[in-house]
Amino acid sequence: MPDALTMDAIVSLCKRRGFVFGSSEIYGGLGSSYDYGHYGVLLKENVKARWLEAMVRERDDIVALDSSIILHPQVWETSGHVGGFTDPLVDCKFCKKRYRADHIGESQCGQKPSRHPGEASDCDLTEARQFNLMFETRIGPVEETGVKVFLRPETAQGIFINFKNVAQLARRKPPFGIAQIGKSFRNEITPGNFIFRTLEFEQMEMEFFVPPDQADEWYRYWIDERRRWYLDLGVRESHLRIRAHDADELSHYSSGTSDIEYLFPIGWSELEGIANRGDFDLTAHSQASGTKLEWVEQDGSRYTPHVIEPAAGVNRAMLAFLCDAYDKEIVAERERTVLRLHPQIAPVKAAILPLIGKDAMMAEKARALYEQLRRVVSVEYDDSGQIGRRYRRQDEIGTPYALTIDEQTAEDDTVTIRDRDSLAQERIPLAGAREALLDRLAQPWVSPKAE
Ligand code: ATP
Repeated sequence: MPDALTMDAIVSLCKRRGFVFGSSEIYGGLGSSYDYGHYGVLLKENVKARWLEAMVRERDDIVALDSSIILHPQVWETSGHVGGFTDPLVDCKFCKKRYRADHIGESQCGQKPSRHPGEASDCDLTEARQFNLMFETRIGPVEETGVKVFLRPETAQGIFINFKNVAQLARRKPPFGIAQIGKSFRNEITPGNFIFRTLEFEQMEMEFFVPPDQADEWYRYWIDERRRWYLDLGVRESHLRIRAHDADELSHYSSGTSDIEYLFPIGWSELEGIANRGDFDLTAHSQASGTKLEWVEQDGSRYTPHVIEPAAGVNRAMLAFLCDAYDKEIVAERERTVLRLHPQIAPVKAAILPLIGKDAMMAEKARALYEQLRRVVSVEYDDSGQIGRRYRRQDEIGTPYALTIDEQTAEDDTVTIRDRDSLAQERIPLAGAREALLDRLAQPWVSPKAE
């Protein structure tokens, strides 16, 4: 059963607590663009850190890369993006709105929002035309003579064109992978849905190069592995599913693609794609560049590796984590909004709170604890306002623990540790607070929302 959660509830929490703002708001805003505030940055950085940890740090067979956003324009000719990276668009000559031809069924008519485009009597839709999604710009000071280049629409091509560099220097043999996190840009015309689909976004992509006869096996391996990553970070199993693409949906390069879909408030939608790209990319770049992108065995035999690609979006993953974590409950007759984020991705791991901010003893001990903890984890010191309000604020940003210094601390050097999910409070020795916190953060965590 889908949650009654709405995207508006998430947008409103993100704005209220400073996770995400609409871009350029003081100038009236810019569609499909967002700015990330303090907690948004911390959450996004944690998502990327967990990905790098799982994909690079904890493995022997994957290395990291950071390639340029602007590449030689030939790269995009060869990859097929100049010719084929397009969406079919239709215009309504009456209301002047533009729609994706393949999304008409989910779009609202510009005149009569209760109808789909084409259904109202005044609608006058054009034939579908192909529209390239790549943003163009120019290198050089003179507009007319500059070289036309593109902002990358995916990070993958930067990996393929570096295959030879990495294969020679990383001392890995297939199967091995190259992973990269970075910004990508797409001139998306379907607006709305918050950070699900934006003009610029970050991708986490990994190209895994394998001997051709192992491609199917690794394709299945990566589907399982990537699904597990979301589960390990607390996403409920009932909100994740794998959907294999039908033959007519497959990209030109792919012999098999499966999406990991999440049950967003807008319905089941792609969270990450895992594609079996065969030898399409290395072969195409070898032919176009004249540089052989192949693997040479010690006995001199050679082959072009096949590629399995798990491609995820940082912002879309962050949205899924936020949706999955969002919860409301009544506690002591009051409604509490809480983000039940996995402690590993929560922006702040613990709040350090003197019960009475103006009390010198409490402030001094709380400050000392904060100084000690901030060296090891992301913590926040908050001494202003009623304690209940401070707890609620931390609940809304998903802070798993709060450590409170109160009158009793002066007597026996103990503090309370409050659990965001169960609301249980326990007294522990102040001297052992660091260990107690780190210990709790390292425990396996399962969403209390799990069915
Ligand atoms: P969609 O069908 O949603 O347009 P796609 O199949 O074109 O996505 P890929 O090219 O496979 O997407 O990109 C890999 C991942 O990058 C997607 O699963 C998604 O998480 C993310 N992504 C792609 N486009 C956007 C975008 N415009 N805004 C935010 N994230 C995006």
